[in-house]
Amino acid sequence: MWFAYSGGRIAILMGSNVMNRQVIERQRAKLLIMRDRVAAEIGSLTQAMLEDAQPVGEHDWGVSEAVDKSIALEHVEEQLHVQISAALARIKDGTYGLCTACGSRIGQARLDALPYAAFCIACERQLESQ
Ligand SMILES: [Zn+2]
Repeated sequence: MWFAYSGGRIAILMGSNVMNRQVIERQRAKLLIMRDRVAAEIGSLTQAMLEDAQPVGEHDWGVSEAVDKSIALEHVEEQLHVQISAALARIKDGTYGLCTACGSRIGQARLDALPYAAFCIACERQLESQ
């Protein structure tokens, strides 16, 4: 960590909110891999749905259930893609690792598990309980 020669206390407080460059680069690499994987999954789901969508008869519930599942899964993957892209944008902005709701630092363990986490645990719980 670096800090200015004067106003040491303030600089150290700010420093605690700035993530280590190496950590950010590692998270960025993880996010880029995740984004590629999610994009590929969305592509193959779309392809599978187009194939499943062939007319096979009016009452073939098996097929429509499969398509329903694919649509739900694709929706999940798309949400994930949006969250990953937003996290990459926060890295660019220099706000990565900070809760987008309250601005406090998101724990490293949480970022390791969820590199695209936008909220700290406290805000996440609050959102979930609403
Ligand atoms: Zn928060």
